[in-house]
Amino acid sequence: MKKPQIQAGWRRRIRTIGFRLNLWYASVFVLSALALFLVLYLGLQIAMARKDQEVVTARSKELSTVYVGGGGARGLRNYLDREGNQAKYYVRLADPLQNNILVVAPDEWLTFNVRQAGLNIEAEATLRIPKDEEKDFLLTTLRLPDGNWLQVGRSANNREILLRPFRNLFLSVMVPIVLLGILGGVLLSNRAMMPVRQIIATAKSIIDTGNLGERVPVRRVRDEMDELAEVINRVLERNECLIRSMRESLDNVAHDLRTPLARLRGIAEVGLTPTATPSKAQEALSDCLEETDKVLTMLTTLLDVAEAEAGVMHLNIEMTDIRRLILEVVELYECVAEDKEISVTTLLAENSNARVDRVRMRQVFANLLDNALKYTPSRGNVSIRSRQENQQIVVEIQDNGLGIAKNEQSRIWERLFRGDKSRSQRGLGLGLSVVRAVVLAHGGEVTVESEEGQGSIFRIHLSRSAS
Ligand code: ADP
Repeated sequence: MKKPQIQAGWRRRIRTIGFRLNLWYASVFVLSALALFLVLYLGLQIAMARKDQEVVTARSKELSTVYVGGGGARGLRNYLDREGNQAKYYVRLADPLQNNILVVAPDEWLTFNVRQAGLNIEAEATLRIPKDEEKDFLLTTLRLPDGNWLQVGRSANNREILLRPFRNLFLSVMVPIVLLGILGGVLLSNRAMMPVRQIIATAKSIIDTGNLGERVPVRRVRDEMDELAEVINRVLERNECLIRSMRESLDNVAHDLRTPLARLRGIAEVGLTPTATPSKAQEALSDCLEETDKVLTMLTTLLDVAEAEAGVMHLNIEMTDIRRLILEVVELYECVAEDKEISVTTLLAENSNARVDRVRMRQVFANLLDNALKYTPSRGNVSIRSRQENQQIVVEIQDNGLGIAKNEQSRIWERLFRGDKSRSQRGLGLGLSVVRAVVLAHGGEVTVESEEGQGSIFRIHLSRSAS
């Protein structure tokens, strides 16, 4: 049972990037060492051969000069005798038929079977003749101007013998080099793959525990891996926010649908009681209709916001006089304002045409004015201004009502969010999400400035040529 598990573990390890990196690193390391050794070995071999050859060629030139300039064979013999270095060089002077005129040879040359070794003269050349395991003979043949042959030879150490310690040294160094390469590879790949392993561990932990708050540790060395970890953390952060807000929205929708549906059921029950008179039943039915409308409005608005946020809201774009649109909305809310004795003043720029969806934009202004009237106590003031700024139309809706707490200002645009102090007022918490979704769908921008207890200004920037 254990064996297959161990095998599977190894197979998994072999497939890892770390293992492959390690293998690559060790191979490159060992191959480079091998290449370096080869270059050195060959270089050394060539240098040694060249050196040996240079020595013999120089000697043969020297002796040929003595022969040509100093009186032939006799002169050459005298020169060699004077020098007394017969022991070092093999010197042979032969006539054109290869009969010896003069032979001066060290002992080792004499004992060597010269003829068999191929010391026959064939042409001018420098030959290397293997003598035994340790020594080689190097022989250069030169044709003298009078037709005689001059052969100069020297014994040289066998190159194989000379290079053997170097080879052995390399082999004994190679073993630690390979081990060092593998060890270095393990360390390096381990270090390089650490962030990847941390990312995998974080992802696994999120999957296993469902804890969306988990983050990949960032080492703060500012390399690509750190950048990757930071990007992944940002994605995780975003996902967490989205999932949290989705959960909250779902909770809110469920909660907000429960109340009207429960009411609806209660009213229907009253209408269905056997003692209910036809007029009571009629009244219950009309109440049911009203409640159903509320639920429908809420669902339609939620769908609108979802559509706009997904970028698929259908807009009926046409050239619209924004000033007229605002005046229509103000007129619509005249009664509400009068009931609360709130004065609504307008200061609107002429010629404020923009390409917008008239119905949607009316809804935007209506929602903002509705809120301004709703969250401003009696005898307050609401002012609506519009102006042109470059290629934009700016609309401001200001009230001196309740204002919005600082910690709520970023949340008021969320679906179904309702401020703490606003719960006593009617509303679904969808008005501002519609405003923002529609303005964004027009490529515009909506912002708020508010001071608790002082009032609020909602500001919309619309491009005149919004598409
Ligand atoms: P609703 O008005 O139905 O609660 P909205 O989406 O229109 O929902 O507004 C969200 C929240 O923003 C409100 O509950 C309220 O707390 C706050 N708000 C919006 N407009 C104003 C305003 N003019 N003055 C003060 N608070 C406001």
